[in-house]
Amino acid sequence: MSVAIQGVSIPRSGHHFLERLLRSYFNGGGRQRMHYCEYYTCCRTRPCKDFDPDWATDELGMHKSHDEILRGGDPDYEPVLVPSVNPKHLIQIRHPVPSTISDYETYLAKKPARDSAKLAKDPDFELHPPRTWKAFSVPELLYRNTFLKKWILDNEWIDSPRHLVLIFDDLVADPRKQLASVIRFVFPEEEPDSEALDRAMNYEPVKPKRDPGVFEHVDTLDELRTLCDETWEACMARLGART
Ligand SMILES: [Zn+2]
Repeated sequence: MSVAIQGVSIPRSGHHFLERLLRSYFNGGGRQRMHYCEYYTCCRTRPCKDFDPDWATDELGMHKSHDEILRGGDPDYEPVLVPSVNPKHLIQIRHPVPSTISDYETYLAKKPARDSAKLAKDPDFELHPPRTWKAFSVPELLYRNTFLKKWILDNEWIDSPRHLVLIFDDLVADPRKQLASVIRFVFPEEEPDSEALDRAMNYEPVKPKRDPGVFEHVDTLDELRTLCDETWEACMARLGART
C-alpha cells in the first residue's frame, strides 16, 4: 500500500532536515517514491491535492503541519488537527528554548525580504521594526508548551505504532539511525536499504549544533526555561517510559 504520513512538528525541530533525508532515501534511486506537501506554500488542503490515490503501492505522501491554531493561527488558514491513527502521524519535537531561539534568528533573517515582498504587493503596507526577543519568545514558548501537551502528554495514540515521535537532538546526533526508524515506521514490511541510507548521509552531512552561548539574549534563558522545563521533562519521562 502507498502510505500517507501527517507530519506535525514544532518549528525548527528538524522537519526539513528529515524531509531532505527522506527525499534522498526515496527519490535518489532513480524513481520518485516520495511526494511532499509543505501545506503553507503548497495547496493548503489535506490530503494534498497533488497526492494521487492511484500511486504505486510503495510510495509515500508526506504532509507538514505546525498545528498553527495552537499559536493563534486562523482556522480558515489551517483547520484544527486532531491526533488520530489515520493517517500515521510523525511528531517532531525539540526543547522549546533552543527551537524558539532558532525560530527568532530565522525570523530576523527573513524579515527584510518578507517586508519588501509585502511592500511590492501593497504600497500602503506598514513597516514595523522587528519584534523584540521578549515579545517574540514568550508567546512562542507557550505555544510550544501547548503543542507538547497536546501531541505528547495528552495524546491518547502516543503508544500506537501509528504514531512516531522524533526528538531533534536524537535526529542530529544520529541521523542514519533515526532515518532508519522513520523508514520502518512508514513501511514496516520493508527492511531499510542500507545503500540508500548511506546515500542520504552523503547528501546531508550532519550539521554541528548551535552554541546557545553565542545567543545575544543568553541572560534571559534561565528565566524562560522555567516556563517550559517542567512540560519538557514530563514529555521525556512519558516517552522514556514507552521504550
Ligand atoms: Zn499540497
